[in-house]
Amino acid sequence: MGYQEIIEDLYKSVKREENIGSLASFIPELGKVDPQKFGIHLITTDGRAFGVGDYEEKFSIQSIIKVPSLALAYKIMGESLWARLGYEPSGTPFNSLVQLEHDRGIPKNPLINSGALVICDILISKLENPQEDFLHFMRKASGNPTIAYSPQIAESEKSVGYRNIALCNFIKSFGNIENDPDEVLDFYFNQCSIELTCRELSEAFLFFANFGVVPSSGDRIMTGSQVKRINAIMQTCGFYDESGEFAFKVGLPGKSGVGGGIVAVHPGQYSIAVWSPVLNKKGNSYRGVKFLEQFTTRTELSIF
Ligand code: GLU
Repeated sequence: MGYQEIIEDLYKSVKREENIGSLASFIPELGKVDPQKFGIHLITTDGRAFGVGDYEEKFSIQSIIKVPSLALAYKIMGESLWARLGYEPSGTPFNSLVQLEHDRGIPKNPLINSGALVICDILISKLENPQEDFLHFMRKASGNPTIAYSPQIAESEKSVGYRNIALCNFIKSFGNIENDPDEVLDFYFNQCSIELTCRELSEAFLFFANFGVVPSSGDRIMTGSQVKRINAIMQTCGFYDESGEFAFKVGLPGKSGVGGGIVAVHPGQYSIAVWSPVLNKKGNSYRGVKFLEQFTTRTELSIF
């Protein structure tokens, strides 16, 4: 069986099962999405592409953007980045405040909200025009010149962003945010608001599966060694406090977002994006995890 037949087959069987969980309605705009949407797109490092369902429909990628944001900061800062935050799994929910008190404002890793806020702060300090320069980086890394922020989603999140506002101010109180917290938060909400289709998302992550090079353009985005480390962080920290379970069940580095998207990469092989907006209790797409678990089982391809 080829990839197209496998993804179609699994799409049908996962869709037949009950869709258990709820939408991320704590962000009002995300509460309006049709819960039955379901799309999958896979692209291989040698350019073959396969899609099924709603894979050409845009959705808010939310925390998935934390990976490219980390990539850009790591590229700029090199190893000095790790003075500002760690790379250990947190074992706590994505928006938790508890560890920060104990760790004196040093977030456990860049893929939880506290870590992503510190990454935004670093980018603001280092880039001339942070918001535009970040889009430029995303467009180059994905080969997609249309990537943009969604003001509507950013505003919607900002209107209820009390916890992220608290996190940013709390970290600032320890001296680990250099810039004005409002500026950091605006950048963070903008990053989270980006909307992509499954096809675009899988393409945007293909360089993580291709040792740092965008296959279609030949552009080197990062070194192979840097990509290895970012993939390791995705593997251990990409699914909030369900990261161990995702590694156990799926066996690929990846990242989820509360918009219901998941992207995972198989180094040297492919990048795959799944979108289904109903989330399980840990905030990960219920059908997305189910699909990927069955996909790596059926293909017998995983990094382990
Ligand atoms: N913008 C969301 C928040 O900060 C992102 C959460 C996520 O996707 O994990 O709450």
